[in-house]
Amino acid sequence: MKIVSTINEVRAQVKEWKKQGLSVGFVPTMGYLHEGHASLMKRAKGECDKVVVSIFVNPMQFGVNEDLDSYPRDLQADSKLCDSLGVDLIFHPEVEEMYENGFCSFVDMNGLTKELCGKSRPIHFRGVCTVVSKLFNIVTPDKAFFGQKDAQQLAVIRRMVKDLNMDIEIVGCPIIREEDGLAKSSRNTYLNEEERKAALVLSQTIRLGEQLVKAGVRESEELLKVMKENLEKEPLAKIDYVEAVSMDTIEKIEKLEGSVLVAMAVYIGKTRLIDNFIAEV
Ligand code: AMP
Repeated sequence: MKIVSTINEVRAQVKEWKKQGLSVGFVPTMGYLHEGHASLMKRAKGECDKVVVSIFVNPMQFGVNEDLDSYPRDLQADSKLCDSLGVDLIFHPEVEEMYENGFCSFVDMNGLTKELCGKSRPIHFRGVCTVVSKLFNIVTPDKAFFGQKDAQQLAVIRRMVKDLNMDIEIVGCPIIREEDGLAKSSRNTYLNEEERKAALVLSQTIRLGEQLVKAGVRESEELLKVMKENLEKEPLAKIDYVEAVSMDTIEKIEKLEGSVLVAMAVYIGKTRLIDNFIAEV
C-alpha cells in the first residue's frame, strides 16, 4: 500500500492502473477510521480492482464554531487498517495541496441542502461538494463509496454527480453500529462515559421510529412528535432537528410515502451526533 500526499502522485498511479485496464474504487474520508469506513473499503475492494482512500479533514466544510481543530486524527492507525483491508493507495494531502493560494472556485447546490444538517451548518455542503468534486477530478474513480450514516450527504453527492454529468457510480452503504446500537462515528471519541450512555437515545429513537412506521403511522407530525418526546427523556440530549424528508429531494413531507428519510441531529453535551433510517412506504 502506498501513502501519498500530492495530487501528481495520485494521478500518476491511477493513470498506470487505467493503462492496465483496472477499475478504481474510491472512499473519501476524514480519517480516524472505524468499522463504518472499513465497510466502505471492503465493498470497494469487492467491486473494483484497485481502491483509493483519501484522508483529509476538509476545513471548508466546518463552520467557525465547529470542531475543525479538535477533530481526531491518527494516520498511523488509519494506515494500518487500510493496509489490512487491501487498500492500494492512501491520499493524505496537506490543506495547501488541496487549496492553494488564490483558491476561489466552489461547487454549491440550491436544493437538498436547505433542510436537516444544511440548516444548522449553512456552509457545510458547499465545502463537501467542492472537496468531493476536487477529489473526483484527482482520483477519477469508476465508483465512489459513501455511507448512509450521512444520508443527506449521500443524496447531495448523487444529485451533484447527476447534475454535473460526472462519470462516476455512487454506491451507498448501510450504517455500521456499535453492538449497543450507537452509529459508529469518529466523533464518538468526544463522548465521556456518561455521555456515551446518553448517546444511546439516538439509536433507540431510530428503532422506535422504525417500529412506528412498521405499525402503520403515516403522518410525519405524529411520528416526529413521538420520536422527539423520546429524545427529550434524556437530560443530556439537546435536539438540533428530527425531520422526515423525501429521500431524493430532502424536502419536508407531511405524509410518509415513497422513499422517506427520517433523520436527526442531537447534541449530547457538546458533541453533535447524527442518525437516521430510510422507510420505504
Ligand atoms: P467521515 O470520515 O466521517 O467523513 O466519513 C467518511 C465516509 O464514511 C462517509 O461516506 C460516511 O458516510 C461513512 N461513514 C461514517 N460512519 C459510518 C458508519 N457508521 N457506517 C457507514 N458508513 C459510515
